[in-house]
Amino acid sequence: MNLLDYLPGVPDFPKPGILFRDISPLLANPNAFKEATLQLEALAQQFDYSHILGIESRGFIFGTALAYQAHKGLALARKPNKLPLASHRESYGLEYGLDSLEIAQSTLPAGARILIVDDVLATGGTIIAASKLLKKAGFDVAGALTLLEIDGLNGSKILSQTGIANKTVLV
Ligand code: AMP
Repeated sequence: MNLLDYLPGVPDFPKPGILFRDISPLLANPNAFKEATLQLEALAQQFDYSHILGIESRGFIFGTALAYQAHKGLALARKPNKLPLASHRESYGLEYGLDSLEIAQSTLPAGARILIVDDVLATGGTIIAASKLLKKAGFDVAGALTLLEIDGLNGSKILSQTGIANKTVLV
């Protein structure tokens, strides 16, 4: 099974020049979703981590599936103003805009080592922001895991240069 067949590119969404990868066909196919989860879990085994941080919103889907498969705890990095007890916020630039992430520090136990999970790695800005957020809150970042890296944006290289070990299932 080629998982890329289930992640079609939608040209010029949400802005001209962006090839947006739609995860809906993959989620709608139980075999593809299962295979994606198993491949994420195989890569996750290469990290020394105690908890997963899923990034809102598509990182929640793969973060949850991986947490279940790997039997790890899950924390959520949320978009602004969703958390009643948000303790840290980090703003960042996207391939197509600006955004922020928040976490509630009390969600994770002291000493947790976190694996950041998202669907797509583009410029790396989201994962770098998530990593800064975790560090501000006093947690160790084990690394970052994504299902797909957008080719040509050097996201993986940028993360590595920032000191964030990272792996992706597909490029
Ligand atoms: P970045 O911070 O540039 O690495 O962008 C990654 C985040 O934006 C992820 O949360 C993705 O869901 C989303 N994203 C960025 N570019 C794309 C793309 N071309 N297709 C789908 N999602 C994308």
